[in-house]
Amino acid sequence: MASATKENKKNSSAKRVAVIGAGVSGLAAAYKLKSHGLNVVVFEAEGRAGGKLRSVSHDGLIWDEGANTMTESEPEVRSLLDDLGLREKQQFPISQNKRYIVRNGMPVLIPANPIALIMSNFLSAKSKFQIILEPFLWKKINSSKVSDDYTQESVGGFFERHFGKEVVDYLIDPFVAGTSAGDPESLSIRHSFPDLWNLEQRFGSIIAGLLQSKISAKRVKSGETKGTLEKKKPQRGSFSFHGGMQTLTDMLCKELGKDDVKLNSKVLSLSYSCDGKSALENWSVSYASDHDKHLQGLSVDAVIMTAPLSNVKEMKITKRGTLFPLDILPEVTYMPVSVLITTFKKENVKRPLEGFGVLVPSKEQQNGLKTLGTLFSSMMFPDRAPNDLYLYTTFVGGSRNSDLAKASTDELKKIVSSDIKQLLGAEGEPTFVNHFYWSKAFPLYGRNYGSVLEAIETIEKNLPGFFYAGNHKGGLAVGKAIASGCKAADLVISYLESSSDDKLLKEGPTL
Ligand SMILES: Cc1cc2nc3c(=O)[nH]c(=O)nc-3n(C[C@H](O)[C@H](O)[C@H](O)COP(=O)(O)OP(=O)(O)OC[C@H]3O[C@@H](n4cnc5c(N)ncnc54)[C@H](O)[C@@H]3O)c2cc1C
Repeated sequence: MASATKENKKNSSAKRVAVIGAGVSGLAAAYKLKSHGLNVVVFEAEGRAGGKLRSVSHDGLIWDEGANTMTESEPEVRSLLDDLGLREKQQFPISQNKRYIVRNGMPVLIPANPIALIMSNFLSAKSKFQIILEPFLWKKINSSKVSDDYTQESVGGFFERHFGKEVVDYLIDPFVAGTSAGDPESLSIRHSFPDLWNLEQRFGSIIAGLLQSKISAKRVKSGETKGTLEKKKPQRGSFSFHGGMQTLTDMLCKELGKDDVKLNSKVLSLSYSCDGKSALENWSVSYASDHDKHLQGLSVDAVIMTAPLSNVKEMKITKRGTLFPLDILPEVTYMPVSVLITTFKKENVKRPLEGFGVLVPSKEQQNGLKTLGTLFSSMMFPDRAPNDLYLYTTFVGGSRNSDLAKASTDELKKIVSSDIKQLLGAEGEPTFVNHFYWSKAFPLYGRNYGSVLEAIETIEKNLPGFFYAGNHKGGLAVGKAIASGCKAADLVISYLESSSDDKLLKEGPTL
């Protein structure tokens, strides 16, 4: 990132980009643009930056109300952490491979790899056979079962064709609830698991496809490393930062500087007005600032929008004086989630578990459990609670139980205490409770999500210098949002460079 060429910096130094939304995608985009020598202004509607990264430190406790951990599978994340000097603040959970899923009302350790899964009693013999024989037994899609065409198959339908119903109920259902608050029937396989969907397109069988991809990846790697030094491998698995996930966005804000991140500045409208002569300062951003109740404006050369699409739909966008129709954007469904932080005295927790956390499959509601899952936050990160306490982070709601997400703190405290009592033997009342409600925690990558992505593409095509990034495109995980922001920054850089070249061509060389 810091290696942006000096030549580029010289040409684009006067240009200004507006980034709308100071979530992790917007801040990563802004940081990349600034590192490239561009002027950047981030507009954030709320009084704080970070969006869905929200860490709290209170009375000896540290917790996250949004994302709790992330991974660094995307190269953009690796460079960002290196560039920000955040490696020493990375915090890896203790025993992160110990994760649990509830079966028959009690937590069961999830086997750590496919071989261990086959050797364990986690699944029935029938399901284990179905997994082993998947390369021969997997079924092609029954086109009468999907509403329109192949591209709209659900996550549940896809995994059932390959591995059977028990795998969907006891592995896929809790996994998607824990990562997106969605359910296997509503989620689209193509948009939620694009890599697996592509694997089926190429190989048919998922198991055969995974094996083949692994073998070819190994071949490429051994070819690459012959005669060259092996690159530093990223540490595998999930991690957070000392102080919580917000350490990342706080660091991005610090690097950007106070003047570049405008808090309490809600963008209300954008207008694009190209005079045909130059591509510069074609955009004007109007925003309402809390400091001064008047509407304010700023002219910029390009815009990166990272606000959720439900917020974008409320904005007014005009192109050369004409209203740009935002009703081409289909309604996105959002998953509501409540996050409950509880602490219990260690002596009152009779069956504490070491590890990452426990997920509750929908089917286990029949055993009285109402939560989506609980993270063993202070087991993972012992510095997040005093020595005599366990701190838990529990999620309630999602598509499974959307009404419950809106319940009062008192009601949720009872539900969470009851589930933790059943699963871990926590007796009595929690010594501390904190409740945070996200009315729109995650956009649902539903079976018609393709139409949302097409609409984003249409908007970008019709509005030169407008780019959309964030978790509504390309994945919900923090790492994916960062990658999306960085890719949008690259597109802006190319756009501004090509606009400058056009301008130079029109004006001719000057001395
Ligand atoms: C409870 C919860 C738990 C999660 N857990 C994990 C996890 O463990 N691991 C993981 O990888 N991911 C997790 N995620 C998902 C991940 O946190 C998000 O997908 C990601 O942080 C989204 O980042 P973003 O920048 O795309 O969007 P956001 O964080 O939503 O940022 C968008 C910003 O735009 C602002 N905005 C909106 N409208 C306007 C406007 N008109 N003008 C100016 N600003 C505006 C908003 O205020 C917001 O700050 C979790 C999410 C939630 C809610």
